[in-house]
Amino acid sequence: MLHLETLLLVHLCVTLLTTALVAASANYADSPPELRWWAAGNVCVSAGVVVTLVETLPPLLTSVAGYGIIAFGLALVLRGLRVYSAATLSWPMIAAIAGVALLVPLYYTLVEPSRGARLVFSGFYFGVLNLWCAAAIARHGGWRVNCIGVTGFVALGCALLLRGMHMWLDTDLSDPTNALLMGVTALVIPLAQICISFGLIVMVMRRYAERLRRLSTLDTLTGTLNRAGLELQGKRVLLRAQRGGRSLAVVMIDVDHFKVINDSHGHLVGDEVLRHLSALLRMELRPHDVLARFGGEEFVLVLDDLDLADALRLAERLRAGIELTVAAMDDVTVRFTASLGVACSDQHGYDLIRLISAGDAALYEAKRAGRNRVTAG
Ligand code: GH3
Ligand code: MG
Ligand code: MG
Repeated sequence: MLHLETLLLVHLCVTLLTTALVAASANYADSPPELRWWAAGNVCVSAGVVVTLVETLPPLLTSVAGYGIIAFGLALVLRGLRVYSAATLSWPMIAAIAGVALLVPLYYTLVEPSRGARLVFSGFYFGVLNLWCAAAIARHGGWRVNCIGVTGFVALGCALLLRGMHMWLDTDLSDPTNALLMGVTALVIPLAQICISFGLIVMVMRRYAERLRRLSTLDTLTGTLNRAGLELQGKRVLLRAQRGGRSLAVVMIDVDHFKVINDSHGHLVGDEVLRHLSALLRMELRPHDVLARFGGEEFVLVLDDLDLADALRLAERLRAGIELTVAAMDDVTVRFTASLGVACSDQHGYDLIRLISAGDAALYEAKRAGRNRVTAG
């Protein structure tokens, strides 16, 4: 039913095609390093598979070098997976992985020639290396994104282990169950390879999506949300509060006389004051509170489950904290104050624009009243 030679041809074609897919996706300037390691690893594995299959080549190439090249390729893929998780795999380790795949087949070619022993070794060794790759992804977490890659590596690893086991036990291929088992593993191998290459590409795409989202919604100077991020997250928090029937407060914060700080110490010190202020605000907030840079030296907070009295208390605490804090850069230290305007959904409804505008009006009042104070809108 399952023709082994046809499946071998399919395996070879799939190996080359998936390699081309991964290599093409890594072939542009600025591609992430893990993708380049995966591409290099796949090229090596493909080259190794081709070398082991060309029977007209000298035995030292087909039976020894081919295995070494495959193992080297798998080690590069593993290095890419480690790089993806912000770790690495050292070159001595990569050399050791490839070295074992050269030395064992060399022994079974020159010292104690045995094709069967070489096949048992390659099945077990490459099976374990693929399971190691699966573990490297699984340890990283992010199951929803990484499950395709893990499934591919586990399937490939198990199929290779089964083949190694089959060779080791020298099972009778005339037994239809054994023949079917071999056929199924030969079918699983190319399918797993497709799964792996798609899995790796999905992992990288997810990284791109995260990076794009961060770039488009975060303020690069302070790491807080920018206006786009405020619109997105603010609306989310507002809807959650409205659905839960809870009050929602908006606090607008503006550094007093920031222009003077810039003019007296320079813009870099001014930037440091903004970073310092955003870090201080973040420390005081709950994880689900929204902190955004509204523009220039003005920040906005969107706070779930706070009525006007609670929000005024929090704003007063923040004001007092800002007054006491000292921003430092090189040998320059800067003390600064801020004015805060507070608005609450109990008075202005669940409309973010209205709340921000009421908070801004209250902030303007605080400035007019002498700065370094909190005013309700
Ligand atoms: P007020 O107390 O009324 O708020 O006075 P102010 O000086 O803080 O306000 P003003 O609007 O007059 O000046 C704000 C200054 O903030 C002007 C602008 O150059 C500066 N600024 C805006 N964005 C940045 C930034 O990213 N970094 C630095 N260093 N300065 C910035
Ligand atoms: Mg200001
Ligand atoms: Mg301002």
